[in-house]
Amino acid sequence: MTTIDPAPSLHFIRRIIEEDLETNKYDGRVMTRFPPEPNGYLHIGHAKSICLNFGLADEYGGLCNLRFDDTNPTKEEVEYVESIKEDVRWLGFDWEDRLYYASDYFEQLYQYAVQLVQEGKAYVDSLSAEEIKEYRGTLTKPGRESPHRNRPVEENLDLFKRMRAGEFEDGTHVLRAKIDMASGNLNMRDPVMYRILHAEHHRTGNDWCIYPMYDWAHGLCDSIEGITHSICTLEFEDHRPLYNWFLEQLDVYRPQQIEFARLNLTHTVMSKRKLLRLVKNGHVRAWDDPRMPTISGFRRRGYTPKSIRDFCERIGVAKKDSTVDIRLLEYYIREDLNKRAPRVMSVLRPLRVVIDNYPEDKVEELEAINNPEDPAMGKRMVPFSRVLYIERDDFREDPPKKWFRLAPGREVRLRYGYYITCADVVKDEKTGDVVELHCTYDPETRGGWSPDGRKVRGTLHWVSAAHALEAEVRLYDHLFIKPDPEDEEDGSDFEVNLNPNSMETLKSCKVEPSLTGAASGSRYQFERLGYFCVDPDSSDETLVFNRTVTLRDTWAKIEKAQQTKASGKH
Ligand code: ATP
Ligand code: MG
Repeated sequence: MTTIDPAPSLHFIRRIIEEDLETNKYDGRVMTRFPPEPNGYLHIGHAKSICLNFGLADEYGGLCNLRFDDTNPTKEEVEYVESIKEDVRWLGFDWEDRLYYASDYFEQLYQYAVQLVQEGKAYVDSLSAEEIKEYRGTLTKPGRESPHRNRPVEENLDLFKRMRAGEFEDGTHVLRAKIDMASGNLNMRDPVMYRILHAEHHRTGNDWCIYPMYDWAHGLCDSIEGITHSICTLEFEDHRPLYNWFLEQLDVYRPQQIEFARLNLTHTVMSKRKLLRLVKNGHVRAWDDPRMPTISGFRRRGYTPKSIRDFCERIGVAKKDSTVDIRLLEYYIREDLNKRAPRVMSVLRPLRVVIDNYPEDKVEELEAINNPEDPAMGKRMVPFSRVLYIERDDFREDPPKKWFRLAPGREVRLRYGYYITCADVVKDEKTGDVVELHCTYDPETRGGWSPDGRKVRGTLHWVSAAHALEAEVRLYDHLFIKPDPEDEEDGSDFEVNLNPNSMETLKSCKVEPSLTGAASGSRYQFERLGYFCVDPDSSDETLVFNRTVTLRDTWAKIEKAQQTKASGKH
């Protein structure tokens, strides 16, 4: 499923730019733009486009603009504009003073349109939307010309001006480019340039009641801003002739459009329209729900900007659509957090352990290493006392073979602590559940080793009961069960593939006291459990953590397993 460019550094867009620099095509300039439509929050696919546009500009000494493609007032909101700015900045990119809106150019675009009308290259059509669609024909059937196609220039000018002046109702007229109704490319069959829409715009208010269509606006915005390489996704390949046609007819500066394959991820849907449905239908809590593939969701989940940038670089840039295994993204966050996240001990499903031979009121401070990958992160002290919590999963009354953790009569090491041996098991009389263990410790094994050379195979994490902080921990799994949630043979919708267990909340977790006051967004490795980050819901009373990712296989192992599977070996 995953196809990865073996040499992502040499991708075809870099080659195009290098060639253009060599031939001095744009006087040695590189100017890109990231053009989001503010109709939703950005997702990881947009991150790929952001890294590409801002990244290439950085690399070749150029600049990248942030331009909101705000040509559709009915679906756009200021909330989205703000979130997009925050996300781009968080990813580590800076548009400096180059923040633009397509709406900045509405007047200029209108003047260009008037020019085309005057030159007989655009006309006002008065067919209904359905009629226009029907007249357009299909891939196998040529289109038919509208009866209004040959309106005299003066009449077109008059009608277009009155469209702008607000004399007509929505849907009564449109402005169309006069190209070729028989073209093999449907986009060239007299595409609509303007529609009437009496709607308030988040920036221009009620100044306009005609709004430009994407194809008309986009290339001209690129031209006005002096963009050199207008990078977009593959679905715009068939629009390129139209992009070029408008620029040629107006005889203005001509950027070049370059298409690349959009990012798809397993277990994920990616379009904003679908993500909005997940939010609206209550399948997730909000756009920034940690299960969402949005940038704000990943941020809340604990992902670092670096992990996302590294992932985007690694998957490369291709001309053919493919789906990337979400485990590759998880690999990059593990790589990054392994180096930067301090390690702490937390118990998610606590089981009480009483160390019978440990003095009742004694507390020892034991030295613990913050991150063995980075000695500069130093050490901290963790309190040890007579009553502790360990992970329920780390005890089995009736252990299977090769069980190295705790069981009746077995000895294990407590990380940074002592060897303990399980002496007795206390159960709930009614349910039979284990409620407490009684253990003994060997005072000679302080620090986790025995002077007599006695070895134990298991090392458990633990928290001192009297010192533990209460925490809520939210565990996440894929939002969709199937790797490709949209691939339903019976045509049913992606919502049927939602994972009912994508979130599990554990309410009475115990974390070590060094986490007192941990700030929202702080990231940790909970030893033996995974990477976790403090959620904005967290408070002084109860800490709330999101599990960012578990501790697991390296990507190299996964790739090998996939290759073995693909080649039919088992
Ligand atoms: P969606 O389908 O999710 O609504 P979009 O393409 O309509 O996405 P825009 O706001 O128009 O969203 O996109 C801004 C830029 O991000 C465009 O240049 C678009 O090509 C790019 N982009 C969107 N989705 C992806 C993706 N999955 N992979 C790479 N680039 C993407
Ligand atoms: Mg779009």
